[in-house]
Amino acid sequence: MAESDFSSVTMPPHAWADIDLKAVQHNFLLAKSHLTSPLCRACAVVKSNAYGHGVQPVVAALDQVMDANDQFAVVSWQEASVVKEVVPHRRVLVMRGPVSADEMSAILAGGMDWVIHSRYQLDLLLDCIAADPSGVKSALVKSEARLWIKINTGMNRLGMPIKDAREVLAALSELPFILPLGLMSHLATADDLGDTLTETQFLAFQQAETELVLPEYTLKTMAASAGILSWPQLHMDMVRPGIMLYGATPMMGRVGPDEGLRPVMNLKSRLVAINHVRAGDSIGYGATYVAEHDMRVGVIGLGYGDGYPRHAPNGTRTLVATEQGVITAPLAGRVSMDMLTVDLSHDQSAKPGDEVLLWGQAWGHDLPANEIADAAGTIPYELFCRLTQRVPRRYIRS
Ligand SMILES: *Cc1c(COP(=O)(O)O)cnc(C)c1O
Repeated sequence: MAESDFSSVTMPPHAWADIDLKAVQHNFLLAKSHLTSPLCRACAVVKSNAYGHGVQPVVAALDQVMDANDQFAVVSWQEASVVKEVVPHRRVLVMRGPVSADEMSAILAGGMDWVIHSRYQLDLLLDCIAADPSGVKSALVKSEARLWIKINTGMNRLGMPIKDAREVLAALSELPFILPLGLMSHLATADDLGDTLTETQFLAFQQAETELVLPEYTLKTMAASAGILSWPQLHMDMVRPGIMLYGATPMMGRVGPDEGLRPVMNLKSRLVAINHVRAGDSIGYGATYVAEHDMRVGVIGLGYGDGYPRHAPNGTRTLVATEQGVITAPLAGRVSMDMLTVDLSHDQSAKPGDEVLLWGQAWGHDLPANEIADAAGTIPYELFCRLTQRVPRRYIRS
């Protein structure tokens, strides 16, 4: 058969993700509605391919509902250049900052905002300026790029001590041009309302503000999604919503819909087989699941090779759209690479070809990614980011 014969065959994929771009817009506006000041900007975090949702369509959808001062953030300059292509008029923040001279030049040339979290990154900038003073100056003046100094307030991951921030500020004040500045820090436990570290970090940030001689125009930011939802005193001049844009909540013990968020990624598949299993027989790899009674077992056409968590335990819910209505089908047996098995004993209507929801929302029913992540001992961030290439994304714009 010629190759063209294959490409003309359109078969429904066994698994796909409906990506609801209206829901992304809704979630962004919901994040903004929490803000304590109308001057507070929102910096939409679209790193890691917009948490697995597909960065270009997500960025284009967000751009439509953003205010003039709202912007984007990613981790690397490679990610930033993809975003800049879609929205050249928006600021894009490179949160890891440059780790080499080449990256510093690429960030300056790309007109991106960037983070300096370590003392050595100051030298990367100064070296670039020394090599081409007028070129760097004109690039920075043209882009109005903002440099965010990241300080450590207790997360102990990225962020410099106050002493280093003081040295960086002193060096920047000697440049022959004014670089717009920001002061940032990141919260370690804002998802847990009972943890006192958030308060400690806030106090450390305020302490830094008083100890550092910051230019008046310096913007400040601490809050990501958890900070936006639960710590209004930390909103400051800018917030950095990530996970909430995608409809899941970072808050412990809650699910996205509790916050008024709408799921964006609705992961679907189909029943590909229905089997009858006798009491005492086992199902799947390792024969770990043994039927206590005669069972009707549905086989769903997706597994960990598509990004479904292998550690999801027996009982984790899936929803099946049958002729008679939507039913809950709990996992029974280990998740394998291309398939998972569910208990359909209490249902007679499901048949091969029926659609299944693994997480998200469909047919008026919610199956929050937070619930599946909790069951599998992980977080929705990881579920979203781990969706594999094999799963086509279908963008829904209205
Ligand atoms: C990923 C990230 C965010 C977004 O966090 P969410 O919990 O997804 O809202 C904000 N700030 C920094 C520095 C990040 O790395």
